[in-house]
Amino acid sequence: LVARENHPTGTVIDIRGVKLGGNQIQVIAGPCSVETQEQMHLAAAGVRAAGCRMMRGGAFKPRTSPYAFQGLGVTGLEYFQAAAREQHLPIVTELMDVRMLDTFLEHDVDVIQIGARNMQNFDLLKEVGRVNKPVILKRGLSATISEWLMAAEYIAAGGNHNIILCERGIRTFETAYRNVLDITAVAMLKKETHLPVLIDPSHAGGKAWMVPALARAAIAAGADGLLVEMHPNPCEAWCDADQALTPQELNELMVSLRLIATAV
Ligand code: PEP
Ligand code: MN
Repeated sequence: LVARENHPTGTVIDIRGVKLGGNQIQVIAGPCSVETQEQMHLAAAGVRAAGCRMMRGGAFKPRTSPYAFQGLGVTGLEYFQAAAREQHLPIVTELMDVRMLDTFLEHDVDVIQIGARNMQNFDLLKEVGRVNKPVILKRGLSATISEWLMAAEYIAAGGNHNIILCERGIRTFETAYRNVLDITAVAMLKKETHLPVLIDPSHAGGKAWMVPALARAAIAAGADGLLVEMHPNPCEAWCDADQALTPQELNELMVSLRLIATAV
């Protein structure tokens, strides 16, 4: 179902009137995790001011350590929704557990994110395949293109064709940065599938100073958009502080992207 030949012109996904795919590039920005009402309020204003039309933020966080901040849970969804609605921004947030799917729907989550660590959680994929909500499927930490496309196929097989792929860097021998951004995947996916392709330059590089270069490379390579971490005060972020842009840096990034692609 996800093969290019089934839809040669490419899928365009409509997220509460915001179009992603085709010629419509979207930059989805926001903090790694929802922390406080104040933080989300400032973040939403920054996302909007930079000209982005969708917002990200995690209320349920897949953390390496069980002792690290795990996210605010349902309270986080409420803070996120309140801040984003004020700025008319559809929200993207990660679903880790099938048992929370109804709660996500009740809280009117606009786009369900399936994180890298759950790319092959097949029961989760089957469940999001049964609902009529756009899904961002991130690439697994060491997943091949074909494993990734098969994971997307699980969602499509359930009837949900609103799938967006997101390359977020893969594991290699390199340790100088968080992950290796696989730009090659953009070219490959554009040939193999009709699904829109996002790049997450934040989790790829792991450092805020790297984000603009990786983001520009992604757009130049033909990606349909970006998923970028931005925090009103990165030094104080509870999660992924090193890779968060400031609102000002997000704004500058957007200006530089418009020189590469007019549809940003
Ligand atoms: C995220 O986007 O917040 C995240 C946890 O990313 P990934 O699943 O790519 O590690
Ligand atoms: Mn993060």
